[in-house]
Amino acid sequence: MKRRDFLTASALAGVATVCGAQRVAAQGQAARDSWMPKLTPPERPAELNLCLQWWAIPGNEMNEKLDFLEANGFAAVEIPSGDWPIKNGEAMIEALKGRKLFLSTACGPSDFSYAEVEKREAEVQKFLPVIEALGKMKSVGLIICPARDKLSEPGRLSAKELRKDFVENTGKRLAQHAAKHGTSIVLEPLRRHETPFLRQVADGARIAADIGPGASVMGDFWHMALEETSFMGAFICAGSLLTHVHIAGLKERIIPGVHPEADQYVDGFKGLKLLGYRGAVSFEGGWPKNPADAKKEIPQEEKIRLIRNMVKLLREQWAMA
Ligand code: MG
Repeated sequence: MKRRDFLTASALAGVATVCGAQRVAAQGQAARDSWMPKLTPPERPAELNLCLQWWAIPGNEMNEKLDFLEANGFAAVEIPSGDWPIKNGEAMIEALKGRKLFLSTACGPSDFSYAEVEKREAEVQKFLPVIEALGKMKSVGLIICPARDKLSEPGRLSAKELRKDFVENTGKRLAQHAAKHGTSIVLEPLRRHETPFLRQVADGARIAADIGPGASVMGDFWHMALEETSFMGAFICAGSLLTHVHIAGLKERIIPGVHPEADQYVDGFKGLKLLGYRGAVSFEGGWPKNPADAKKEIPQEEKIRLIRNMVKLLREQWAMA
């Protein structure tokens, strides 16, 4: 112990002797406060902006689907990537006019792990016009999983090579293009059997930070349940780089609420509240099996009932967080 620390400790001890146990407790609290981590409350409070992916929204026509979302308490819509945003962008811009919905992300496959430069370049070129279309639609961004579980196959970069190339080349160029068009790329960590490359939200946030403007990260409760030790801690690690969230049941990757005992999101929602998160929380998962006929999907009325049940469950847990 340094002399100054010793004197401080001695002084504290003296005060404690004179003023009694109550003062000792107060001093102990003050000492704890001096080293406890401090979390700055967000400038604007978080919002629960519920969202559905395009395929899961009841209805056939674009406006029918958007009407359903608005009528059932959703705030955002998630669309497919591929060439969907290019083909449907103008119609979507029209359909969203006057609505309270925002366009969250475009979700679809991507792969930047090819060893051949030409193949990686083709992937970049494929997504540049998609990013432009998303920018026009004022979308939050394009979801990207940089690599699936193919890194051990011939013709693939190693994880080390991929990280360097993604940060300095492929991901960087897509992110810069996204920033120029007012949107972003959104890195999605997956489960260990799906990718050896990006499994945790904090790692995705670090990659996004290394890339710079136009790059962000998301968290998917389904993947996080296997890969993270704390939903709350993982979201806090992402900080302001967190732009999107996927949610599914935690026992089965189906709509939340079918196994309510397992579907506990309060800890994660606490993290989102601490961040002042205002992005979308978007359902990505399947439907439960049809008890009447396993080969058929459940009826539309049952899907609608389950969607409303999910909205109720998530709102209740958000209030508890
Ligand atoms: Mg996901």
